[in-house]
This record gives sequence, structure tokens and C-alpha cells, in this order.
Amino acid sequence: MCKENLNSLFLFILNDIIRLGDTMPKRKRRLKVKWKNVFKLLSVILVIIFAFKGISYLYFNNKVFNDIKGSKLTIKTNKKQIKLSKKNVEYINSSNVKVKIKSKKLTYNLKNEYINNITNLKIHLYKDKIKEDGFNNSKGYFISDDKIKTGNVTVKLPFFLSHKKVVDVYGVKGNDYIKEYTKKVKNKQITFKYNSDYDRYVITYVKLKEIRVDSEQINMVKNRTRKILINIIPAKATNNKIKYIDVDKKYISIKNNIIKSKKDGKTSFIIKVDNKKIKMFVNITSKKFDVTKVNGIYYVDGLMLVNKSYPIREDYNPGELNEETKTAFAKLQNDAYAEGINVWIVSGFRSYSKQKELYDDYVSKEGQEKADTYSARPGYSEHQTGYAFDVNEATDKFNNTKEAKWLEKNAHKYGFILRFPKNKEDSTGYKYESWHLRYVGKDKAILIHNSGLSLEEYYGINSKYKD
Ligand SMILES: [Zn+2]
Repeated sequence: MCKENLNSLFLFILNDIIRLGDTMPKRKRRLKVKWKNVFKLLSVILVIIFAFKGISYLYFNNKVFNDIKGSKLTIKTNKKQIKLSKKNVEYINSSNVKVKIKSKKLTYNLKNEYINNITNLKIHLYKDKIKEDGFNNSKGYFISDDKIKTGNVTVKLPFFLSHKKVVDVYGVKGNDYIKEYTKKVKNKQITFKYNSDYDRYVITYVKLKEIRVDSEQINMVKNRTRKILINIIPAKATNNKIKYIDVDKKYISIKNNIIKSKKDGKTSFIIKVDNKKIKMFVNITSKKFDVTKVNGIYYVDGLMLVNKSYPIREDYNPGELNEETKTAFAKLQNDAYAEGINVWIVSGFRSYSKQKELYDDYVSKEGQEKADTYSARPGYSEHQTGYAFDVNEATDKFNNTKEAKWLEKNAHKYGFILRFPKNKEDSTGYKYESWHLRYVGKDKAILIHNSGLSLEEYYGINSKYKD
């Protein structure tokens, strides 16, 4: 609806009031004015308010001005300079500029006779909630212009953006929002390079709601590192530069989300984002994990521990994988299958004597030195615990399969760790085995997996034969 139409509507109703007033008896006339016509007047005022709510911006020659109503703006073009006074704006509204409002979309058509060197300039400006994942219903300021092909565009920001320190500029093509810039706001405006490949641009500020970390209580081992996984909610938050505050450098150092413990004890620090009140406290406990021995079996952090430094007693023989491990694997197997991934256990529990048989066979074929890189000596195999097993095919051929990749990405979610990861030979004592999984429970599996460490590195223990 344009102002012209509103004016005539207004006049029509005013006329109506007068006309009614003339034909009614005096008492009724007053009533009519008080009730019906006051109501009509109010609705007209409401319509005017609504109609003009969106008309606050004028886009002209690569510049966007807001609040053209009653403002005095100077627009510079190559050829001439036009001053937009209140009168100019009225003139634009009444004659030479057609104002169309389709929902919240605003179009100004500036005609030849008003500005000679600009024709068919189309502007679509509106502020609206961005209906796109990850924006969390932020308001956006949409800009498109058929006329502009390239070049710098200066946008004077509307109030909801102009007081921000930085704003994001997204290029929109179809349903894709591509973040092009994070721009500093200067004098309530920003300038960015316009690329006509995009359907339109959205300028927005996405408010940070929450910072999440994978664990608020982190257990560490002195001199070990651990990656801390930080999630910014919403992911598209404009302010997303992480800062670490109150870091006690005696105890820890942090760089690129990697914490290194320097001293045993308890400490904490704060994760924060620039200029925002939202904080996340993280507590760190650094201690050496004690390896304990109970009934001839070693434990660390409640886990049965078997490696080249920590053997398991010869007669420990549960006979099969334990129930917890089997249940967790069944769940993993089901979920994997649903994604087109087939995994099965090819070798589970192995007794001391079975391991002896295998190992002796390898030694006789390839010699002890070679056999030690891939096969455990009897009494040193994790398979004897009933918590470890091999899947599909226990050879290097399995390494590059989609099944191995799926396990590397997902096994921890079910409580399993890849016990002998890539490039961890020095700590585990074994070469990379993509097929050997160990059940440690979901919580520990996630922590160990996210640390990027082998089990030995994570707990600060060794894996080396004594001889
Ligand atoms: Zn194995």
C-alpha cells in the first residue's frame, strides 16, 4: 500500500465522518463520532503505522539509507547530487516512486524522469527472522539489487544492527547461506564487495546462546595433552572467537583447544567469547593414574589393563567376551548395519593357551622380533580379558575399508576404543590395528577418543616387554 492510497482512504473516512455527522440527529451524531468513527480512525492510524513500519530504508546508487522519513539525506551520484529532504521524500512517495509492499518485502522503483541516470533500480529490503538452520531465529537484513553486478556496497545499518561491533554478511543462493564476511561496523555502516552471483545478501548478527564443552571436569596426566571440544550454540554465532581466561600457567597451558598439564593438582579456567557474558567453567584435575594389582590382574582407572608392561595371570579365563562388551557391540553392529556397514566379531576371547599356540606359530614362521610387533605373547594379550576382540578381517587389508573408517568415527559412541591407533606404536607397542577394539565403557571411550591419545598415553603408562 502506498501513501497515496492511504491518503485517499483517510480522506474517504474523514468524509464519511462528516457526512454521517450531517445526517444524524445531534445526540446520535456525538455517539457515532465517539464509537464507530473513532474506531475507524484508529484502524486507519494502525494501517498507516503498519504500512510505514517497513518503509524506513532507501537504497540508492549502492548506498542504503535508513529512516528516509523526515530525514535530510544527501545522495551523491556520478552526475549530480540530490538532496532528499522531507519534501523530496514526500515527492518520492506521491509521484515518481512506486512503493510496493508484499508482506515485509519492500520495492522502490525509481523512474527515469526523476533520476535520469538510474533506471529500474529495484531494491528489496526487509528485516525478518532467518528461517535457516543454525541461525536460531536471528533477525536478518536482506538486500538484493538487479542493477548492481559488482563493486563495493555501503549499507547503512538499521538500528538492530548498527550498534553491534561486528555483523555477518551472508551471500544467499537458493537455500544456501554462505558466510562471506564478518564486518566491523563503522559509523553505523559497513562496506562489502557485492557479488551478483548471489540471489541476495543477508546482513545479520547471530547472538551467542551457549558455550558447551565435552567435559566440565577433565582428568589429566602430567605432561600429557588433551584436546578440548568446544561447541558454540548456535553454530553460526557472530561472536565465536574463543578466549581462555584465568588460566593458571603453573598448572596448564592451552593453545588451539589443546590443554597440556604441567603440574599435578586441581585448577580451573574459563572459556569465553569476545565481549560476551556467557562463560563456561572447566575444572582440571591432573594426577598420575595409579596402576593397581588385584588378584594377579592390573587395573588403571577401573579398567582391566593388559599390555606389554602389564601381563594378565595365566589362569584368568572368563571363557568368552563379557556381557557388557557383547551388548554394546550388538548395538554398534545394528546401527552400523542401518548405515550399510557390516561388522562382525572374527576373534573374541582367547585363553592363555590359545594365545600361546598363535604366538608360537608366528614366531616359528617369522621370528620373535617380527611376531612381537603384531602378536602378543601369551599372558600379554588383551583378548584374554574378555573386553577385546577383532572384527571382520584381522589384516592390514581392513585398514582402508569403509567399515574401518566407520569404526574409527563411531566406535567410541558405543564404548569402544581403537586400541592400537595409527602412529601410536611407540606408546602401545603395536602397529596400527584398525580391527582390534577394546570395550572401556562409553564415558571413558569418548574421553580417550577425543583426546586423540592412545590408552597408554591417556593414562601415562608404558607398554614394553622387560626383555
Ligand atoms: Zn586383536
